[in-house]
Amino acid sequence: SAQTTTKHVNALYGATALDLARQGVYHIETGIGGVADTLIEKLHTLGGAIHYKQRVIKIEMKNGRAVGVWAQKGRKGKEQTFFEADFIIANTTPWDLNNLLGENSSRGLKRESARRKLGWGAFVLHLGVNADAIPIDFPDHHQIIGDMMTPLGETNSIFISLSPTWDTSRAPAGQRAMTITTHTTVSQWWDLLKADESAYYAQKEVYTQKMLAQVEKIIPNIRDHITLLLPGTPVTYQFYTDRHMGMVGGFPQTSLFKARSPRTGIANIRLVGDSIFPGQSTAGVSLGAIRVSDDVQRVMPIRKTSTSLIRQEAQS
Ligand SMILES: Cc1cc2nc3c(=O)[nH]c(=O)nc-3n(C[C@H](O)[C@H](O)[C@H](O)COP(=O)(O)OP(=O)(O)OC[C@H]3O[C@@H](n4cnc5c(N)ncnc54)[C@H](O)[C@@H]3O)c2cc1C
Repeated sequence: SAQTTTKHVNALYGATALDLARQGVYHIETGIGGVADTLIEKLHTLGGAIHYKQRVIKIEMKNGRAVGVWAQKGRKGKEQTFFEADFIIANTTPWDLNNLLGENSSRGLKRESARRKLGWGAFVLHLGVNADAIPIDFPDHHQIIGDMMTPLGETNSIFISLSPTWDTSRAPAGQRAMTITTHTTVSQWWDLLKADESAYYAQKEVYTQKMLAQVEKIIPNIRDHITLLLPGTPVTYQFYTDRHMGMVGGFPQTSLFKARSPRTGIANIRLVGDSIFPGQSTAGVSLGAIRVSDDVQRVMPIRKTSTSLIRQEAQS
Protein backbone atom coordinates (compact mmCIF):
# COMPACT_ATOMS: atom_id res chain seq x y z
CA SER A 1 0.00 0.00 0.00
CA ALA A 2 1.14 3.53 -0.75
CA GLN A 3 -0.29 4.55 2.66
CA THR A 4 -2.31 7.28 1.03
CA THR A 5 -5.26 7.67 -1.34
CA THR A 6 -5.41 8.30 -5.10
CA LYS A 7 -5.70 12.04 -4.57
CA HIS A 8 -2.28 12.28 -2.91
CA VAL A 9 -0.25 9.29 -4.15
CA ASN A 10 2.69 9.90 -6.45
CA ALA A 11 1.47 8.78 -9.88
CA LEU A 12 4.31 6.37 -10.71
CA TYR A 13 3.99 4.62 -7.36
CA GLY A 14 0.20 4.47 -7.73
CA ALA A 15 0.54 2.99 -11.21
CA THR A 16 2.67 0.16 -9.84
CA ALA A 17 0.15 -0.50 -7.08
CA LEU A 18 -2.71 -0.55 -9.61
CA ASP A 19 -0.87 -3.23 -11.55
CA LEU A 20 -0.94 -5.58 -8.54
CA ALA A 21 -4.44 -6.78 -9.31
CA ARG A 22 -3.25 -7.88 -12.77
CA GLN A 23 0.00 -9.39 -11.48
CA GLY A 24 -1.83 -11.45 -8.87
CA VAL A 25 -0.95 -12.19 -5.26
CA TYR A 26 1.89 -14.48 -4.22
CA HIS A 27 1.86 -16.72 -1.16
CA ILE A 28 4.84 -18.23 0.55
CA GLU A 29 4.41 -21.73 1.90
CA THR A 30 4.34 -21.57 5.74
CA GLY A 31 3.60 -17.83 5.52
CA ILE A 32 5.88 -14.99 6.59
CA GLY A 33 7.78 -17.35 8.94
CA GLY A 34 9.02 -19.09 5.79
CA VAL A 35 10.79 -15.88 4.71
CA ALA A 36 12.50 -15.64 8.10
CA ASP A 37 13.62 -19.30 7.90
CA THR A 38 15.05 -18.77 4.40
CA LEU A 39 16.95 -15.66 5.52
CA ILE A 40 18.35 -17.49 8.57
CA GLU A 41 19.56 -20.35 6.39
CA LYS A 42 21.23 -17.97 3.94
CA LEU A 43 22.86 -15.93 6.70
CA HIS A 44 24.34 -19.07 8.23
CA THR A 45 25.60 -20.21 4.82
CA LEU A 46 27.37 -16.86 4.40
CA GLY A 47 29.07 -17.22 7.78
CA GLY A 48 26.78 -14.82 9.66
CA ALA A 49 25.47 -15.23 13.20
CA ILE A 50 22.07 -14.40 14.65
CA HIS A 51 21.71 -13.41 18.30
CA TYR A 52 18.17 -14.23 19.34
CA LYS A 53 16.13 -12.24 21.87
CA GLN A 54 18.73 -9.47 21.91
CA ARG A 55 17.07 -6.10 22.06
CA VAL A 56 19.30 -3.19 21.03
CA ILE A 57 18.94 -0.51 23.69
CA LYS A 58 21.71 1.91 22.71
CA ILE A 59 24.05 2.70 19.85
CA GLU A 60 27.54 3.57 21.04
CA MET A 61 29.29 6.43 19.23
CA LYS A 62 32.92 7.59 19.16
CA ASN A 63 34.19 10.66 17.30
CA GLY A 64 30.94 10.97 15.35
CA ARG A 65 30.93 7.34 14.18
CA ALA A 66 28.98 4.36 15.47
CA VAL A 67 31.25 1.76 17.06
CA GLY A 68 28.73 -0.82 18.26
CA VAL A 69 25.46 -1.53 20.02
CA TRP A 70 24.43 -2.40 23.55
CA ALA A 71 21.84 -5.16 23.68
CA GLN A 72 19.71 -6.56 26.44
CA LYS A 73 18.72 -10.21 26.50
CA GLY A 74 14.94 -10.54 26.71
CA ARG A 75 12.45 -7.88 27.70
CA LYS A 76 13.31 -7.78 31.38
CA GLY A 77 16.86 -9.10 31.25
CA LYS A 78 19.46 -7.21 33.29
CA GLU A 79 22.47 -8.55 31.41
CA GLN A 80 23.75 -6.22 28.70
CA THR A 81 26.13 -7.21 25.92
CA PHE A 82 28.20 -4.97 23.68
CA PHE A 83 28.46 -5.91 20.00
CA GLU A 84 31.18 -4.10 18.06
CA ALA A 85 30.25 -2.85 14.61
CA ASP A 86 31.98 -1.25 11.61
CA PHE A 87 28.65 -0.36 10.11
CA ILE A 88 25.11 -0.40 11.50
CA ILE A 89 21.96 -1.01 9.48
CA ALA A 90 19.00 -0.10 11.66
CA ASN A 91 15.76 -1.89 10.82
CA THR A 92 13.78 0.70 12.76
CA THR A 93 11.70 3.80 12.29
CA PRO A 94 13.58 7.14 12.35
CA TRP A 95 12.08 7.84 15.81
CA ASP A 96 13.45 4.59 17.24
CA LEU A 97 16.88 5.16 15.71
CA ASN A 98 16.91 8.65 17.20
CA ASN A 99 16.08 7.18 20.63
CA LEU A 100 18.82 4.55 20.33
CA LEU A 101 21.35 7.28 19.56
CA GLY A 102 20.11 9.57 22.33
CA GLU A 103 22.12 12.77 22.65
CA ASN A 104 24.56 11.50 19.99
CA SER A 105 21.87 11.50 17.33
CA SER A 106 22.44 13.63 14.23
CA ARG A 107 20.83 17.05 13.91
CA GLY A 108 18.75 15.81 10.98
CA LEU A 109 17.37 12.79 12.84
CA LYS A 110 16.56 14.89 15.90
CA ARG A 111 14.70 17.38 13.70
CA GLU A 112 12.90 14.62 11.81
CA SER A 113 11.80 12.91 15.04
CA ALA A 114 10.42 16.18 16.37
CA ARG A 115 8.67 17.30 13.18
CA ARG A 116 7.64 14.31 11.09
CA LYS A 117 3.93 13.51 11.06
CA LEU A 118 3.16 10.12 12.61
CA GLY A 119 2.45 7.30 10.14
CA TRP A 120 -0.43 4.84 10.17
CA GLY A 121 -0.93 1.92 12.49
CA ALA A 122 -3.05 -1.18 12.03
CA PHE A 123 -5.85 -2.72 14.03
CA VAL A 124 -5.70 -6.43 13.26
CA LEU A 125 -7.83 -9.47 14.00
CA HIS A 126 -5.94 -12.75 13.84
CA LEU A 127 -8.55 -15.46 13.43
CA GLY A 128 -8.71 -19.21 13.27
CA VAL A 129 -11.89 -20.29 11.43
CA ASN A 130 -13.48 -23.58 10.49
CA ALA A 131 -12.69 -24.24 6.83
CA ASP A 132 -16.37 -25.23 6.31
CA ALA A 133 -17.35 -21.59 6.81
CA ILE A 134 -15.47 -20.52 3.68
CA PRO A 135 -17.42 -21.01 0.45
CA ILE A 136 -15.79 -23.20 -2.22
CA ASP A 137 -13.64 -21.21 -4.70
CA PHE A 138 -13.78 -18.19 -2.40
CA PRO A 139 -10.84 -15.84 -3.21
CA ASP A 140 -8.13 -15.63 -0.52
CA HIS A 141 -8.05 -11.80 -0.50
CA HIS A 142 -10.80 -9.22 -0.13
CA GLN A 143 -11.09 -5.52 0.48
CA ILE A 144 -14.40 -4.31 1.90
CA ILE A 145 -15.34 -0.64 2.05
CA GLY A 146 -18.36 0.11 4.22
CA ASP A 147 -19.28 3.66 3.27
CA MET A 148 -17.68 5.12 0.13
CA MET A 149 -18.41 8.67 1.30
CA THR A 150 -16.51 8.51 4.61
CA PRO A 151 -12.74 8.23 5.03
CA LEU A 152 -11.08 4.84 4.67
CA GLY A 153 -9.55 3.04 7.65
CA GLU A 154 -10.83 2.91 11.26
CA THR A 155 -12.95 -0.18 10.35
CA ASN A 156 -14.71 1.54 7.41
CA SER A 157 -12.31 -0.27 5.08
CA ILE A 158 -10.87 -3.67 5.87
CA PHE A 159 -8.54 -6.14 4.17
CA ILE A 160 -9.12 -9.86 4.60
CA SER A 161 -6.47 -12.50 3.88
CA LEU A 162 -7.08 -16.22 4.18
CA SER A 163 -4.37 -18.85 4.34
CA PRO A 164 -4.42 -20.77 1.05
CA THR A 165 -6.11 -24.18 1.15
CA TRP A 166 -2.91 -25.79 -0.20
CA ASP A 167 -0.81 -24.57 2.75
CA THR A 168 -1.66 -26.99 5.56
CA SER A 169 1.10 -25.53 7.78
CA ARG A 170 -0.88 -22.37 8.49
CA ALA A 171 -3.74 -23.82 10.55
CA PRO A 172 -4.81 -27.09 12.21
CA ALA A 173 -6.55 -29.61 9.94
CA GLY A 174 -10.02 -28.43 8.95
CA GLN A 175 -9.27 -24.80 9.74
CA ARG A 176 -7.97 -21.68 7.97
CA ALA A 177 -6.02 -18.70 9.29
CA MET A 178 -7.73 -15.39 8.57
CA THR A 179 -6.20 -11.94 9.05
CA ILE A 180 -8.45 -8.89 9.02
CA THR A 181 -6.86 -5.48 9.15
CA THR A 182 -7.81 -1.81 9.04
CA HIS A 183 -5.66 1.33 9.05
CA THR A 184 -5.86 3.26 12.32
CA THR A 185 -4.23 6.35 13.80
CA VAL A 186 -1.82 5.25 16.51
CA SER A 187 -2.10 8.09 19.00
CA GLN A 188 -5.79 7.48 19.84
CA TRP A 189 -4.93 4.04 21.30
CA TRP A 190 -2.10 5.38 23.46
CA ASP A 191 -4.25 8.30 24.62
CA LEU A 192 -7.05 5.91 25.61
CA LEU A 193 -4.69 3.56 27.42
CA LYS A 194 -3.18 6.46 29.35
CA ALA A 195 -6.52 8.07 30.22
CA ASP A 196 -8.60 4.99 31.04
CA GLU A 197 -7.48 1.40 30.55
CA SER A 198 -11.06 0.08 30.54
CA ALA A 199 -11.96 2.54 27.75
CA TYR A 200 -9.00 1.19 25.75
CA TYR A 201 -10.30 -2.39 26.06
CA ALA A 202 -13.85 -1.25 25.30
CA GLN A 203 -12.63 0.44 22.09
CA LYS A 204 -10.76 -2.74 21.17
CA GLU A 205 -14.04 -4.65 21.47
CA VAL A 206 -15.93 -2.02 19.42
CA TYR A 207 -13.38 -2.29 16.58
CA THR A 208 -13.49 -6.10 16.75
CA GLN A 209 -17.28 -6.18 16.44
CA LYS A 210 -17.36 -3.58 13.64
CA MET A 211 -14.81 -5.50 11.62
CA LEU A 212 -16.60 -8.81 12.12
CA ALA A 213 -19.80 -7.09 10.95
CA GLN A 214 -17.96 -6.08 7.76
CA VAL A 215 -16.82 -9.68 7.23
CA GLU A 216 -20.41 -10.90 7.70
CA LYS A 217 -21.27 -9.08 4.48
CA ILE A 218 -19.42 -11.75 2.53
CA ILE A 219 -19.38 -14.68 5.01
CA PRO A 220 -22.72 -14.31 6.86
CA ASN A 221 -22.17 -17.06 9.46
CA ILE A 222 -18.52 -16.26 10.23
CA ARG A 223 -19.08 -15.67 13.97
CA ASP A 224 -20.30 -19.27 14.44
CA HIS A 225 -17.06 -20.61 12.99
CA ILE A 226 -14.38 -18.66 14.84
CA THR A 227 -12.08 -20.95 16.84
CA LEU A 228 -9.49 -18.30 17.74
CA LEU A 229 -9.76 -14.52 17.93
CA LEU A 230 -6.74 -12.34 18.74
CA PRO A 231 -7.23 -8.59 18.27
CA GLY A 232 -4.16 -6.33 18.11
CA THR A 233 -3.87 -2.54 18.34
CA PRO A 234 -0.81 -0.33 17.75
CA VAL A 235 -0.09 -0.87 21.47
CA THR A 236 0.16 -4.60 20.74
CA TYR A 237 2.45 -3.93 17.76
CA GLN A 238 4.71 -1.73 19.84
CA PHE A 239 4.94 -4.46 22.50
CA TYR A 240 5.94 -7.19 20.05
CA THR A 241 8.08 -5.25 17.57
CA ASP A 242 9.39 -2.20 19.47
CA ARG A 243 8.21 0.04 16.63
CA HIS A 244 7.59 3.63 17.73
CA MET A 245 3.97 3.89 18.96
CA GLY A 246 3.22 0.69 17.03
CA MET A 247 3.34 2.42 13.65
CA VAL A 248 3.44 0.07 10.67
CA GLY A 249 3.65 0.57 6.93
CA GLY A 250 6.13 3.42 6.61
CA PHE A 251 5.28 6.81 5.19
CA PRO A 252 2.72 7.90 2.58
CA GLN A 253 4.33 7.74 -0.88
CA THR A 254 3.20 11.16 -2.06
CA SER A 255 6.27 12.31 -3.99
CA LEU A 256 9.36 10.66 -5.43
CA PHE A 257 11.29 13.75 -4.34
CA LYS A 258 10.16 13.47 -0.71
CA ALA A 259 10.84 9.72 -0.38
CA ARG A 260 12.78 8.87 2.81
CA SER A 261 16.34 7.85 1.98
CA PRO A 262 18.35 5.38 4.12
CA ARG A 263 20.75 8.19 5.17
CA THR A 264 20.83 9.12 8.85
CA GLY A 265 23.34 11.95 9.12
CA ILE A 266 25.89 9.51 10.59
CA ALA A 267 28.40 8.16 8.08
CA ASN A 268 28.26 4.50 9.13
CA ILE A 269 24.57 4.09 9.97
CA ARG A 270 21.76 3.47 7.48
CA LEU A 271 18.06 2.90 7.94
CA VAL A 272 16.36 -0.05 6.29
CA GLY A 273 12.79 -1.34 6.27
CA ASP A 274 9.44 0.21 5.49
CA SER A 275 10.46 3.74 6.53
CA ILE A 276 12.73 4.11 3.50
CA PHE A 277 11.80 4.14 -0.19
CA PRO A 278 9.98 2.25 -1.67
CA GLY A 279 8.24 1.57 1.65
CA GLN A 280 6.21 -1.31 2.95
CA SER A 281 5.46 -4.89 1.86
CA THR A 282 7.81 -7.83 1.77
CA ALA A 283 8.76 -6.92 -1.81
CA GLY A 284 9.12 -3.21 -0.94
CA VAL A 285 11.40 -3.67 2.06
CA SER A 286 13.48 -6.24 0.15
CA LEU A 287 14.03 -3.76 -2.67
CA GLY A 288 14.98 -1.06 -0.15
CA ALA A 289 17.38 -3.48 1.55
CA ILE A 290 19.10 -4.38 -1.74
CA ARG A 291 19.74 -0.68 -2.36
CA VAL A 292 21.11 -0.22 1.17
CA SER A 293 23.32 -3.28 0.78
CA ASP A 294 24.79 -1.84 -2.46
CA ASP A 295 25.34 1.48 -0.71
CA VAL A 296 27.14 -0.15 2.24
CA GLN A 297 29.38 -2.08 -0.12
CA ARG A 298 30.26 1.16 -1.91
CA VAL A 299 31.25 2.72 1.42
CA MET A 300 33.11 -0.37 2.64
CA PRO A 301 34.87 -1.89 -0.39
CA ILE A 302 36.97 -4.16 1.85
CA ARG A 303 33.82 -5.81 3.15
CA LYS A 304 32.63 -6.16 -0.42
CA THR A 305 35.66 -8.30 -1.19
CA SER A 306 35.20 -10.47 1.88
CA THR A 307 31.45 -10.85 1.27
CA SER A 308 32.12 -11.85 -2.34
CA LEU A 309 34.70 -14.36 -1.14
CA ILE A 310 32.28 -15.85 1.37
CA ARG A 311 29.64 -15.99 -1.36
CA GLN A 312 32.01 -17.74 -3.74
CA GLU A 313 33.01 -20.21 -1.01
CA ALA A 314 29.34 -20.85 -0.20
CA GLN A 315 28.60 -21.55 -3.84
CA SER A 316 31.55 -23.87 -4.39
C1 LIG B 1 -1.51 -6.25 9.39
C2 LIG B 1 -0.46 -6.23 8.33
C3 LIG B 1 -0.58 -7.06 7.24
C4 LIG B 1 0.39 -7.06 6.24
N1 LIG B 1 0.27 -7.91 5.17
C5 LIG B 1 1.22 -7.93 4.23
C6 LIG B 1 1.14 -8.84 3.12
O1 LIG B 1 0.19 -9.61 3.01
N2 LIG B 1 2.13 -8.82 2.20
C7 LIG B 1 3.19 -7.98 2.30
O2 LIG B 1 4.08 -8.02 1.44
N3 LIG B 1 3.31 -7.11 3.34
C8 LIG B 1 2.35 -7.07 4.30
N4 LIG B 1 2.44 -6.19 5.34
C9 LIG B 1 3.56 -5.26 5.37
C10 LIG B 1 4.82 -5.91 5.89
O3 LIG B 1 4.51 -6.70 7.01
C11 LIG B 1 5.79 -4.81 6.30
O4 LIG B 1 5.98 -3.93 5.22
C12 LIG B 1 7.14 -5.39 6.71
O5 LIG B 1 7.01 -6.29 7.79
C13 LIG B 1 8.04 -4.26 7.16
O6 LIG B 1 9.30 -4.80 7.35
P1 LIG B 1 10.39 -4.05 8.21
O7 LIG B 1 11.61 -4.89 8.14
O8 LIG B 1 10.45 -2.62 7.82
O9 LIG B 1 9.82 -4.00 9.71
P2 LIG B 1 9.46 -5.17 10.71
O10 LIG B 1 8.80 -6.30 9.99
O11 LIG B 1 8.72 -4.49 11.82
O12 LIG B 1 10.88 -5.69 11.22
C14 LIG B 1 11.67 -4.97 12.13
C15 LIG B 1 12.25 -5.97 13.10
O13 LIG B 1 13.23 -5.33 13.91
C16 LIG B 1 13.00 -5.66 15.26
N5 LIG B 1 13.47 -4.58 16.13
C17 LIG B 1 12.98 -3.32 16.22
N6 LIG B 1 13.67 -2.62 17.13
C18 LIG B 1 14.62 -3.45 17.63
C19 LIG B 1 15.64 -3.31 18.61
N7 LIG B 1 15.84 -2.17 19.27
N8 LIG B 1 16.44 -4.39 18.87
C20 LIG B 1 16.26 -5.56 18.21
N9 LIG B 1 15.32 -5.76 17.27
C21 LIG B 1 14.50 -4.71 16.99
C22 LIG B 1 11.49 -5.82 15.37
O14 LIG B 1 11.14 -6.58 16.49
C23 LIG B 1 11.19 -6.52 14.05
O15 LIG B 1 11.34 -7.91 14.15
C24 LIG B 1 1.49 -6.19 6.35
C25 LIG B 1 1.61 -5.35 7.46
C26 LIG B 1 0.64 -5.37 8.45
C27 LIG B 1 0.79 -4.47 9.64
